[in-house]
Order: sequence, then structure tokens, then C-alpha cells
Amino acid sequence: VKSAPVKAERTVSKAAYYSKVPYSEVCNVFQEIEGTSSRLAIIRICSEFFSRIMRDNAQNLVPATYLFINKLGPDYEPGLELGLGEGLLMKTISEACGKSLAQIKSRYREIGDLGRIALEARNVQPTMFKPSPLTVGEVFENLRAIAHSQGKDSQTRKVKLIKRMLTACEGLEAKFLIRSLESKLRIGLAEKTVLISLSKAILTNESAAGKEPPMDLVESAEAKIREAFCQVPNYEIVINACLEHGIMELDKHCQLRPGIPLKPMLAKPSKSITEVLDRFQGQTFTSEYKYDGERAQVHLLEDGTMRIYSRNGENMTERYPEIHIRDFVADLSTTKSLILDCEAVAWDKEQQRILPFQVLSTRKRKDVEAKDVKVKVCLFAFDILCHNGERQINKSLRERRALLRAVTKPVTGEFEYAVELTTSTVEELQRFLDQSVKEFCEGLMVKVLDGEESHYEPSKRSRNWLKLKKDYLDGIGDSVDLCVLGAYYGRGKRTGTYGGFLLGCYNEDTGEFETCCKIGTGFSDEMLQQLYDRLKTTAIDGPHATYVFEPSAEPDVWFDPTTIFEVLTADLSLSPIYKAGASYYDKGISLRFPRFVRTRDDKSVEEATSSTQIIELYQNQSHVGS
Ligand code: ATP
Repeated sequence: VKSAPVKAERTVSKAAYYSKVPYSEVCNVFQEIEGTSSRLAIIRICSEFFSRIMRDNAQNLVPATYLFINKLGPDYEPGLELGLGEGLLMKTISEACGKSLAQIKSRYREIGDLGRIALEARNVQPTMFKPSPLTVGEVFENLRAIAHSQGKDSQTRKVKLIKRMLTACEGLEAKFLIRSLESKLRIGLAEKTVLISLSKAILTNESAAGKEPPMDLVESAEAKIREAFCQVPNYEIVINACLEHGIMELDKHCQLRPGIPLKPMLAKPSKSITEVLDRFQGQTFTSEYKYDGERAQVHLLEDGTMRIYSRNGENMTERYPEIHIRDFVADLSTTKSLILDCEAVAWDKEQQRILPFQVLSTRKRKDVEAKDVKVKVCLFAFDILCHNGERQINKSLRERRALLRAVTKPVTGEFEYAVELTTSTVEELQRFLDQSVKEFCEGLMVKVLDGEESHYEPSKRSRNWLKLKKDYLDGIGDSVDLCVLGAYYGRGKRTGTYGGFLLGCYNEDTGEFETCCKIGTGFSDEMLQQLYDRLKTTAIDGPHATYVFEPSAEPDVWFDPTTIFEVLTADLSLSPIYKAGASYYDKGISLRFPRFVRTRDDKSVEEATSSTQIIELYQNQSHVGS
């Protein structure tokens, strides 16, 4: 039996909104989580807290969730990086808490945790007058204001806001406020755990008797939230839809829409044509060129405006001023809105051919004017996800392709359809693969064409899409994208830059980075210099608590996780020195003979190759039995 769902809209006055949940409650929960290692216990702690909020102040659930996952809004919303350097925070703590900067710095060298330092400093500071206690909504809005603050005097405004909050901090608040300002809570709380806890709380709240739901129900509810989030990656919309319609009804009320970038579908690697044929036995499948450019999710909105989003939902519209999707719509009187999935590729107008990815990456990223564009781009469309507000992802690929062709019109060198071939013979596939490479593509994407398995699965790395990359056929079938965790100083010719790097994959369940190789091959001198300039600003005093490594592989310098390397490898092997997948095997999996290909600036660090993928790639090697 369900009780009436609570609608979580902001109440009229900001003051009323702010007067709700004290920030100290969140901090107490963080402290408890920090001292707890059992995941089930953490879920219990979080969900009890969320339940309490929902009972008393449902409108605070959204800001509280964001504080728990350490974000300030949806990833696609621009300007949400706090970007506060350690130096600035130390100075602000020293001024707000009456300690000298030298004292703060020396303490920082000892314990390496600005949160604890702020807490210590606040606790011994006499307070003249007592400002009103901080609330969850207030802290969240202030953090957003700090991130959004730009231009002249922005530094001063940021410092002022932080000081005001610090002065109001009591108990544990200073510790977690500073950690949130640093964008690292360091309490071992993965986003997935927050979502499970949230699902549990919402289900408990939906049950009339307030009864705790069984764990399998909680997990299916969490899957519903995640599915909705893949289509609408905005927790405010998803949570409010849960509260309004009930969590199990979410899929009916929270669907992809033009103007919000959905998480794109991804492919699994494959090592040979025969492997593809084995996988798709008994199914109709089709192949397309795999273009080597940048993913471009093109949205046409009802109001006639257009947006182009990158693979990780970044708004790239300004980078492509020469593209006007309306020019490629077959009939503007019948097509009002669209979402297309495309690859943007550099295009040589004279030679009428595709240019390599490296050429595309020379394009300016900001303030691009159409008249200054030197490297032209052609969009190769391969899917349609929404048409006139109606989602298409639950139709077969065959139907989606037909619709794509019906509602758009190609223009050579500007907007084309991905070259395709539907065949299941080895010879034809081999010829098509060779042809794709001759025409400057990376290989093929092979996709299920009919039935439910051909539906578009947002965010999923699906077995229904296989990538067959010519270059990688002899290796493990794919390159991997790893996060740079640290570096080793260069010697000899490489003195003055870093000579090698420690890389890690991302464990989606724990939120940890697990080391999987040291890399020193594939870099030009110029690239090493560029990487040195870029990474040295992200150096930190010691490894983050989320870095899982073996002391014998400790680098000379540790970094904040900011940069992804695409890496090729001969094969994967078990190793006592690395930690990837070590919770699955007793040793870690490591890359043998890794070689740098490029940086992947279109991926966030959480989008690095996951530990599960590394395990899969390891097991798929012919000599390894799973
Ligand atoms: P990588 O691009 O390095 O292979 P990835 O993790 O970015 O890895 P994958 O799932 O491995 O993504 O490969 C799919 C990518 O290939 C898409 O993100 C898209 O940018 C690109 N692509 C090029 N042509 C096609 C196509 N015809 N269909 C689908 N994706 C394509």
C-alpha cells in the first residue's frame, strides 16, 4: 500500500527553504560513514538520514543528495567546478580561524588534510557572537554560488562566502565544509552506495507502514533510478519524479528529452570477425564504419535552437558554429525536435575525404567563430533517439535507421549517414573492414539490427554493439583509458619532465582507482613537456585514500585524478605489483608493454576503463579461462 507521494518543490520563500535541515546533521552522518567500513552499514546510515529528511523536509533531499555525491548539479551544467586551490583555502582558513598561514601550512605538511586543520582551528577559536546555524540548503546554494562566481573580484567574493560559512561552523562542520570545497569528501562513499540508500529511503517512505523494503526490491529500485538517470542525468528531475510518481513508475515519467544530454550507448570490444559471427549467431546484424572523431549528440529543440553535446554531456555547441542542424532536417514543418547520435569528424573539403582525429583535436575549443574555422567538420549520423518529443530508443535499429533517413537529408561533407553494410559472410565483412580503414576510419561497429536486443541502451557498454578495430585485432581487442595517478621523474634525456606515469582503472562499486601499470612508451618529447606542464599543477602531497596501490610501485609524485590516457597493450597478465581487479583475483591485473596513444579529454575520470572491464578483457584472452 502506498501513501500519497510527497512533491518536492521548493517552498515559496528562500528563508523557509533554508530553515530546514541543519548542516550539522549531514556532517554527523559523514563522520559516522568515515568510521564505518561495512557497505551495508553505510547504506543503513545514509538511508535512515534520507528517510528522516523525506519525512520532515522533502525539498531538502536534492541538495542533500548532491552533498553526499560531492557534486553541485548535473554534469552537463557548465560552471560547476569550484576550482579552489590549496593555497587559497589555507589563506582563507587562516584568516577566518585566527591562525597564521605558517601554522596552517606546517600542520598541512604534517597531516595533509585541510578539513581536519580547519576543524582544529575552529574548535580552539573563541566565538564573539553566534551566527545562526548552517543549513543543508544554504551550504549547497553557497557552494554553487562560489563555483558560478566569475570575472573581476570573483576571488574576493568566493573568499568572503567561505569565511562567512566558516565563522558559522560548529562541531564537525568545518571539516566537511572544507573537504566539500576541495571537492573530495574522502569518506569512502561511492555514488552507487548513495543511490542504493536513496532508493531504500524512498521505498520505506512509500510504504504506508514505513516498513523497510527487502534488499532485492531496493536493488531493482536503484536500477530504476540509474536507468532514469541515464536518460535524464539530472538528480533534481529524477528525485522529484520519484517523489511525485513513486520510484517504480519512474520510467514512465522520466524520459529523455531534447535539451538534456542522455548518456550515450557504448560498445564492447571484439578481436576478430569470427568472434563477431559467433556472438551474433542466429541474429540479424549490421555493420557501420567506426569513424574516428568525437561523439556528437545533436539536439534540435522545439524553439528552433540547437545543441551539440560531447560524449560526457559537455555542451560543445559553441565549438561548432558552422553546423546548423536545421539545414539537414528534411521538413521543418513536420520535424520540430530531434536527438541524433553522430560522430563529428575532421573533413578535407578539397580532397573530399576524412582527416585523422589529430586534425580535429587542433580545433579551438572556445570562442570559435564560423569565419575562422579552418578544420571543417562533417557529422556522420548513425542513430536517432528522439523525434518530436517521442523517444525512439525502444524501437529496433532497423526502424530507427529508417526514421533517421526519413526526417533528415544528407549533404556531402557536412552531414552524412554512417556507411553501412548488412552481411554475415566473413569475406564481405573482411572487405568492408579493409575498406573502412582505407577510408580513414578506425574499423567497424557491428550492431544487432532487429528485435529488443537492438534497442538503444543509454549509458550501457552493450554486447549488442561490438567494435572491431583494425589496429587492435592482434592485441586485446581494444585500447584502454586509464587515469593518471602519479609520475616518476625523468632521467637522462627526459630530465626536467616526468619520464613515466602510474595509471589506474576505476572501480565503479567502490569509487577507487586501482593501479594497473607504469607507462613510459609512446610519448614524444613535446608531449612529455606538455604533460609535465599540465600535470605538475595537480600534484598532491600524498596518495588519495581512494588510490589502491602496492608500496613497491609508489611514484615520485602523486596527482589529483584529472587526466585520462588512452593506452594500447600487448596483453594483460596477473601481477603482484598492481591492483586492478584484485578483489576478484588475489593478484591484480596489469598491462604488459603499455604504449601511450593520446589523452582523452572527452572523458571524465570516472569514465576511465572500469575494473570490471579490465577483468573482462583479461578473461577474454584466449589463453585465460574464466
Ligand atoms: P573508443 O572510442 O576509444 O573506442 P569509447 O569508450 O569512447 O572508446 P566505444 O564504445 O569504445 O567508446 O566506441 C564507440 C565510439 O565510437 C562512440 O562513442 C563513437 O564516438 C564512435 N563511433 C564512430 N562511429 C560510430 C558508429 N557508426 N556507431 C557508433 N559509434 C561510433
